[in-house]
Amino acid sequence: FPVLRLRGLHKTYQLGTHRVPALRGVNLDVLPGEMLALTGPSGSGKSTLLNLAGLIDQADAGDIDFHGQSVQGLSEAALTLLRRESIGFIFQSFNLVPVMTVADNVDFPLFLAGVPLAERQARVAQALDGVGLAEFAHHRPDALSGGQRQRVAVARALVKRPRLVIADEPTASLDSHTAEQVLDLMRERCHAEGAAFLIATHDHRVVRRCDRVITLLDGQIADRAEESLVA
Ligand code: ADP
Ligand code: ADP
Repeated sequence: FPVLRLRGLHKTYQLGTHRVPALRGVNLDVLPGEMLALTGPSGSGKSTLLNLAGLIDQADAGDIDFHGQSVQGLSEAALTLLRRESIGFIFQSFNLVPVMTVADNVDFPLFLAGVPLAERQARVAQALDGVGLAEFAHHRPDALSGGQRQRVAVARALVKRPRLVIADEPTASLDSHTAEQVLDLMRERCHAEGAAFLIATHDHRVVRRCDRVITLLDGQIADRAEESLVA
């Protein structure tokens, strides 16, 4: 089944006395091994959708199935567990811990998930190998270029073999050439590991490399078939 199945999602923020609708009835299936671009103007609801899909925030109405399991009614603790085990995150500004080595940054999600040490070491080595950074394992992030840092973040997102990777503007801090390299790597890892990637982006280089494109407009998915043809 789909990694993620979203049905009728609604989300409204309360801002003082104003109610700000952010999502207005979003339906979406995300399939294993699929790289999906989420585009749309600023304020269209992309971040809100990523937060719901990443089990960081909860919808006001609608259903979210994660790999066939409804997340409605799960406790905060159960959601955290599911998130730690099954979802990887990649951010615009990398969000690496500066005082930790590259290897320790990649290890961190495994540590949080309680994976035994020997297995952690093997998986960190494999993940760094997969992004071509094995020889940087014991460096600090600030010794690396922006592209290398984002590759560390890709390794960190994939090290627990998540079903879903959520990326928020992953190329926004990278120059054009580096962005393309990081994207090709993400695409390769996505297809090799069968994880689904959900990528919010304004970057046409990202959109072009994705398998499918979804556009949000005013909190709804715009049905524009020609967008998909770009990919
Ligand atoms: P992006 O467009 O890069 O996703 P953000 O998600 O940070 O940027 O913000 C998107 C929109 O949501 C902006 O218009 C911002 O003003 C608004 N916003 C974000 N957080 C809040 C908040 N806590 N209160 C009010 N508006 C917010
Ligand atoms: P995008 O990521 O596409 O820029 P967002 O999901 O951040 O869109 O925002 C969707 C709408 O919700 C916008 O109108 C934004 O201003 C509003 N919004 C987002 N976060 C908050 C918040 N924490 N409080 C109030 N309004 C918010």
